Amino acid sequence: MPAILFGLVAAVALGVWAQEKLAHPALAPHVILDATDVPGPKVRATYFGTSTILLEGEQGAVMVDGFFSRPSKLKLVSMWPLAPDEGRIRAALAAANVDNLDAVLVSHSHHDHAMDSAAVARMKGASLVGSTSSRNLALGEGFTGPFHVPNFGTELSIVSARDPSQPTGFSVEAFPSKHSPKPVFPGTIDDKLGMAERPLSAFKEGGTYSFVIRHATGTVLVQPSANYLCGKLKKVKADVVFLSIGLLGKQSDTFARNYWREVVLATGAKLVIPVHWDDFTVPLAEPLSVTPLAMDDVARGIYMVVALGKEFQVPVAVMPALQPLDLLPARRPASDAEAEAKRRVALAEPCEESPPAG
Ligand SMILES: [Zn+2]
Repeated sequence: MPAILFGLVAAVALGVWAQEKLAHPALAPHVILDATDVPGPKVRATYFGTSTILLEGEQGAVMVDGFFSRPSKLKLVSMWPLAPDEGRIRAALAAANVDNLDAVLVSHSHHDHAMDSAAVARMKGASLVGSTSSRNLALGEGFTGPFHVPNFGTELSIVSARDPSQPTGFSVEAFPSKHSPKPVFPGTIDDKLGMAERPLSAFKEGGTYSFVIRHATGTVLVQPSANYLCGKLKKVKADVVFLSIGLLGKQSDTFARNYWREVVLATGAKLVIPVHWDDFTVPLAEPLSVTPLAMDDVARGIYMVVALGKEFQVPVAVMPALQPLDLLPARRPASDAEAEAKRRVALAEPCEESPPAG
């Protein structure tokens, strides 16, 4: 009997272990710790999971998205309102030694991008940049600071939160983009959304932006959702691309190639940092873990991007969370005529628009 019992316990334990391993496949360890070795002024980057990224220069700092609360799976499906967890926001900012913050750029209004953006802007006195849906989220939370809805084709200078007469050295240009195919909650948030009216489904997409963030040391493109619009970024030059791979592993190889060409090759990026591969229901107090297989195929997504990086000689590297590193000026790989010729050939190929949402 004890032997049978032991056998049962062992089988259950093995089952749980296997399920855990299968649910959280390991991410290839493409980690960079020394992105730049160029002397002089620098821009430092910190990654907080999903597409929450902080860029800090000598005169100021900007953040993309702002998602720290990371409610559990149970909370997400409960239909209870989701509210920012100030304790988790403060803990994450403290862990990364974030002091000053001048602007928060909200890519779209889903909870894993927008839900803490107004809270973090309020805490730091920062301004907000985003869609009218994101503005309705902020207003519903009582946000009274400056909110800019971007005009396409116009560059916005980010001013200091402490002294608005002072520039921060950062400017931002928003580009229309597309959410990854079949977004869970499409549509817009058309009215101020109160805190009691915010189950997960209330966080509607509200349109999706790409952000081009310029600084004297270089240019960063943040592509916070894995999709593209043909030709939209062809006039943009970027040194570094933060490239969402959320749900990329569920798309075809043709989709991934179009995505890579329209975002990475079009901008001539010298470094690609995949983002939005982590399980956003795990708190930032724990190490980032890969999105479970039931929701995404991160292993396939990362390998597609790594293979494209290899083919076009663009380094691909994953950033660890909460560890600031010097990002700009970008390390310049030795120029390679063959790689540049390949890039030009690929850019001359016709672009196939991704399927419409829905
Ligand atoms: Zn989304």
